[in-house]
Amino acid sequence: MNVFVVNCGSSSLKYQLIDSETEEVIAKGLCERIGIDGRLTHKPTGKDTVVRECDMPDHKSAVSYVLEALTDEQFGVIKDLSSIDAVGHRIVHGGERFANSVVINDEVLAAIEECNDLAPLHNPANLIGISACKALMPEVPMVAVFDTAFHQTMPQKAYLYGLPYEYYEQYKVRKYGFHGTSHSFVSKRLIELIGKQDKESKVIICHLGNGSSVTAVKNGESVDTSMGFTPLDGLIMGTRSGSIDPAVVQFLADKLSCSLDEVINILNKKSGVEGISGVSSDFRDLDKASSEGNERAAIALDLFAYRVAQFVGSYAASMNGVDAIAFTAGIGENNSKMRKNICEYLEYLGINIDDKANATGGEEIKISTADSKVAVYVIPTNEELAIARETVALL
Ligand code: ADP
Repeated sequence: MNVFVVNCGSSSLKYQLIDSETEEVIAKGLCERIGIDGRLTHKPTGKDTVVRECDMPDHKSAVSYVLEALTDEQFGVIKDLSSIDAVGHRIVHGGERFANSVVINDEVLAAIEECNDLAPLHNPANLIGISACKALMPEVPMVAVFDTAFHQTMPQKAYLYGLPYEYYEQYKVRKYGFHGTSHSFVSKRLIELIGKQDKESKVIICHLGNGSSVTAVKNGESVDTSMGFTPLDGLIMGTRSGSIDPAVVQFLADKLSCSLDEVINILNKKSGVEGISGVSSDFRDLDKASSEGNERAAIALDLFAYRVAQFVGSYAASMNGVDAIAFTAGIGENNSKMRKNICEYLEYLGINIDDKANATGGEEIKISTADSKVAVYVIPTNEELAIARETVALL
């Protein structure tokens, strides 16, 4: 079965065509600058990458360029659209309604639309992606896979904020958590690797990328996670502040004579390790600057490690123990120095890192020593494959 996996942003569209039997990527790519001008980068496996400037006034035109590329005589990978058996859509917010992936029908579309309020930048774009695919492939079944779904198992004590209860009842203000597809994929694999599929298990997943979050997974279910009502909460990230005292928002709006919207924009786009260092949001740049003596870059890196360790520690407390920890995503998979720095804060848990194994990275590997009380792994995430698997399972 060939599954077309679609991840629609407000001005971008990422896609992969995956053969679900072999789990191989047949082609992948990206449309950027949708609604501005438009660029398609198409990477057919085993053939050269194609980059094309195209006129993309909307997502429907972007999808149609992608489908043309997939079926093109020269750089295509399938003969025609009948070779696409299903479409899996990544949807950012499923609110409290969706604790699992679902086959898309009119009722599901309406329910996703009801969640627009909770993710005004993302869900409308996701819906546009669905309607663009429906318009061009009306007969092909489609599945919605939600970033929030995995965390719907959190207990109330983890997801309620200390606010008047009616705000939860009336406006659904609560912690939702994100990166659920990745946390689910990586935690399943970690539980397999430590041989605890049918036993009680307590694991912690550190998804550390440009956006970062930590999740506590007990017996295969998310019981707490660091992102909140929006992805702004929790860890300090590339450009996001993570948790701060909410009173800072009003204070800064007064000092900067700007709106609350503008302050939130600063917290999302100009803060985090970029804001602290003044160098970059990319950890490779920060490592370089820090090794050249840039103190603010060094502080930003240490602050990041410290925060991750704080969340791991608090989740070990939440679950009353932890069997294993996994690092994943751009930083978690590739930055051995950051993994080491985080684990140094966790020595009290009996964690011992094998420096030689840790120096590898970029692939699935155990990086703790045989006598470490908590096993530590690097497990590459693969959200597209997870979406393809969910899609096949539902159809
Ligand atoms: P996003 O959240 O946008 O998907 P990623 O998971 O790609 O982000 O993570 C981006 C971060 O991962 C950057 O800070 C970058 O420094 C780091 N990163 C990605 N690839 C590598 C690599 N090969 N080596 C070292 N760091 C990497």
